[in-house]
Amino acid sequence: MNKLTVRDWGIENKTVVLRVDYNVSFDKQGNIIDDTRIRFTLPTLNYLLEKNCKVVIISHLGRPKGKIEPSLSLRGVTPLLAKLLKQKVGFVTDCIGKTVEEGVKGLKNKEILLLENLRFHPEEEKNDLEFARQLASFGDLFVQDAFGAVHRLHASTVGIPKFLPTVAGLLLEKEISYLSDAIENAAHPFLAIIGGDKVENKIGIIKNLLNKVDALIIGGGMAYTFLKSYGAEIGNSLWEPDKLDLAEEILRLAKEMNVRLFLPLDHVIADKIDPAANIRESEDIDIPAGWIGVDIGPLTIDRCAPVIKQAKTIFWNGPMGIFEIDKFAQGSIRIAQLLGQATEKGTITIAGGGATVTVAIRAGITDKVSHLSTGGGACLEFLEGKQLPGLTVIPEKQCIP
Ligand code: ADP
Ligand code: MG
Repeated sequence: MNKLTVRDWGIENKTVVLRVDYNVSFDKQGNIIDDTRIRFTLPTLNYLLEKNCKVVIISHLGRPKGKIEPSLSLRGVTPLLAKLLKQKVGFVTDCIGKTVEEGVKGLKNKEILLLENLRFHPEEEKNDLEFARQLASFGDLFVQDAFGAVHRLHASTVGIPKFLPTVAGLLLEKEISYLSDAIENAAHPFLAIIGGDKVENKIGIIKNLLNKVDALIIGGGMAYTFLKSYGAEIGNSLWEPDKLDLAEEILRLAKEMNVRLFLPLDHVIADKIDPAANIRESEDIDIPAGWIGVDIGPLTIDRCAPVIKQAKTIFWNGPMGIFEIDKFAQGSIRIAQLLGQATEKGTITIAGGGATVTVAIRAGITDKVSHLSTGGGACLEFLEGKQLPGLTVIPEKQCIP
C-alpha cells in the first residue's frame, strides 16, 4: 500500500484524532452482537498508545439521520473497548463543543477519549467544513482507520484532512493491502465466489475480477438471472428481467477469457420466504413452478468444494442463499467453512461485504480467513475500481514533506 500510514509519521506524544468504524449492533440487553469491528481496531490503538499518544476516537453508529438517538449511542462501546485494551476509556456525550474541548484538554498521554456518534449531527453527512474544523481542532494528526466509511463524502472522511495532516491506520492499511496487492498480484488459481441478491449490485465487481480470476462461482439470488439466460426453469425465484443481457454478456466474456464459471447445479427450494416454509431439494438445475430457489443445493456444494481446495487465492462476496432464515443458510455456511479449511492449507482467502461478514461470523470463520474486510460498501466499490474519496485524501508515501 503506497499511502502514508501511522508508521510513516513521527507520532510520539501527539494527540491523534482517530476515525474508526464502530458501527456495531446491540442486543436487547445492550450487549454488542459482534465485536469484530472493535477488535480489528486494536492494532492501531495499541500502536498509538505505545507511542505515548493521546487518542480521541470518533465514529458513526447506525443511521440516526442527524438527530440524537439514544439507542445509537457509542457509549455502549466503551465497556468492551476498555476490556479489550485493559485500560480506562473516557466517553463524552457529544462529538463537538465545550464538553469535548474540556475532555480533550484533560487527556494525559496513553489515555483514550471516545466521542459520541458523529451522525447525531447532520453536519457529518453533509461534510460541513465548520464541523470538520471543530473535529480537527481536537488533535495534531488525523488517523483514518474506518475502511467502512471511506467511500463516503463526509466530514470525518474528507473534511478533517483539510485541517490536519492525515495518515492511514493499520486496519485501513491491511484492508487496502489485501484488496489491492493480494488481488492484483494473486497467486493462481484465483477463484472468486460471488453471491448476494442482485446482479445489479455485483456487475461492477464481476467485470473487474473477470480478467484476473481463473474460476468464478456464482450463487445466491443473482444466480437465477444467469440460469434464466441459460434457459433453465427458475420457478418463482428472484431474477432481474432487465439484467438478462448483462448475464449473457458475462457468460460470454467468461468463455472468451477462459474463466471456469460455476452456476448452481441444484437448489434448496421453498414454497415461501419464511421460517415456516416447506422446503426440499431440487433434483437438478430446474426449479418447479411455484417454488423459489433459496439456497444452493448439496450437489453444487460438492462441485464447488474441489474448486475451493485447488485455489491459491479466493475472494468471496455475497451469501449463497437467504441466510437470514436458518433453513436457507447451509449453503453459505458450508462455503464459509470450506474457505476456512483452505486458509489452513495456505490459500490466501479474502471475504468482504456486509452480509458476507454476518455469514462469516455465523460460520465461525472470522479469524480463519486471511482477511475479513470490515468495509461492506467500501469493499465492493474498491473492487469495482472506483476511487474512494476518504482514501484519495490520504497522501502517498512519496509525499512525506
Ligand atoms: P453483501 O452485503 O455481502 O455484499 P449482498 O447485500 O449482495 O451481500 O446480498 C445479501 C442478500 O442476498 C441477503 O439479504 C440474502 O437474503 C440475499 N439472497 C441470497 N440468496 C438469495 C436468493 N436465492 N433469493 C433472494 N435473496 C437472496
Ligand atoms: Mg449488502
